[in-house]
Amino acid sequence: MNLFSLFRNHATFAHGGVHPLEHKDETAGLPIRRMPFASKLVVPLLQHKGAPAKPIVKVGQEVVRGEPVAVADGYVSVPMHAPATGRVSAVDLWATAEGPKAPAIVIDVYDGATQEILYEDPVDIMHLAADEIVQAVKDAGLVGLGGAAFPSHVKLLPPQGKSIHTVVVNGCECEPYLTCDHRVMLEHTDALLRGIRIVMRATGAGRALIGVEDNKMDAVRVIREKLAEDDAIRVRAVKTKYPQGAEKMLIESLLNQQIPEGGLPVDLGVAVYNVGTLAQMGDLLPAGRGLIERVVTVSGAGVARPGNYLVPIGTPVGFLLQQAGADAEATKVILGGPMMGMAVASLDVPITKGASGVVVYAADDPDQRDRKVYPCIKCSHCVEACPMSLNPSMMAQLAKTREYQRMESEYHLNQCFECGCCAYVCPSNIPLTQYFRIAKALNRERIALAG
Ligand code: SF4
Ligand code: SF4
Repeated sequence: MNLFSLFRNHATFAHGGVHPLEHKDETAGLPIRRMPFASKLVVPLLQHKGAPAKPIVKVGQEVVRGEPVAVADGYVSVPMHAPATGRVSAVDLWATAEGPKAPAIVIDVYDGATQEILYEDPVDIMHLAADEIVQAVKDAGLVGLGGAAFPSHVKLLPPQGKSIHTVVVNGCECEPYLTCDHRVMLEHTDALLRGIRIVMRATGAGRALIGVEDNKMDAVRVIREKLAEDDAIRVRAVKTKYPQGAEKMLIESLLNQQIPEGGLPVDLGVAVYNVGTLAQMGDLLPAGRGLIERVVTVSGAGVARPGNYLVPIGTPVGFLLQQAGADAEATKVILGGPMMGMAVASLDVPITKGASGVVVYAADDPDQRDRKVYPCIKCSHCVEACPMSLNPSMMAQLAKTREYQRMESEYHLNQCFECGCCAYVCPSNIPLTQYFRIAKALNRERIALAG
């Protein structure tokens, strides 16, 4: 943490939040490096919220880097593109970070395949009409790169009767270890600002506010230098506090407004985009290209060469770790950040569009010691830490007695966005977030079965 940030009084959300150790120094100063191609790349058909893409290639077919290999299946869906030139060796089930196997296109990459992207269709993006921009964003296969992986084009079109006046840009990167967004803000500033202008044009928004945590003041300065006095885009430092990058928190910090329960940012006339998504938008759309690679932070005491790598989508996590010099004895590999990410069960799992980091814990990491679970001591630390002002202790009690419906109807379970703050502060090591994730899934299942 930058010591000076302790004395600044930057805007923040009112309730809860935590300050986990940042662990960002290992990678924040390292420029983005390109990762070579693995011999096999695995492109899952569902890397986003919504319907899986439909494959348009067959086994044995040759594909060129950048070429579409699957088309969107419906409105909330996006296409997939070949991350490298090679031959399709399978369209089959493959391991996913979520657990169950899911359909994927497997590409055997040609030896010496070029990094050059030959499949493109340049356009003058700022002269396209709004609906043409929406289509171009969809055609690029863009989803939220901050982890949510929500199709980006859907947020450009507000529902009938609503409009967007403000674009909120998330440059917080509040998860420990992750620095890919930080590097993107420093190294791809022009593409980021172009992406913001594209979104403003498509939505008709009159202003954009970029929120950056105050442990990244170099990024604030670099962006500010590029903005003219009368620019409709503004950058603001916000307090370094987890989960500042959650859209509800960031909207409160920047606009002093709260999204109503069950509501969305668009209800306030706001669209929220991550800086990584917008920088990709600014790069890909003018060139008429698809999303085939992303910046991934590889960090943790279990890797010898931590850094920010430009990784082809579909690269198996095992290959990535080999390139980063991972410790063979490493105990745990997390995809995403340690607060909201998922432990991967298989190193065959591929890097997908929403994968912002891979954190590798060393065998002797104190954070990963066996954490025995004790009974709740009613200390209320979890209540104080919850940014949504929920009562995690009470919900955990109901989860134990399987009163999932009461968790929802009386304790606002659906307001929980699984940030992990409650579990982080719990002295009894109760896996609160896991309880809530399971309860929400069971409630969804119950509603689906009833309907
Ligand atoms: S995981 Fe849910 S209940 Fe726990 S602090 Fe975050 S929002 Fe609150
Ligand atoms: S923090 Fe843990 S021990 Fe304390 S009240 Fe919450 S659940 Fe109970």
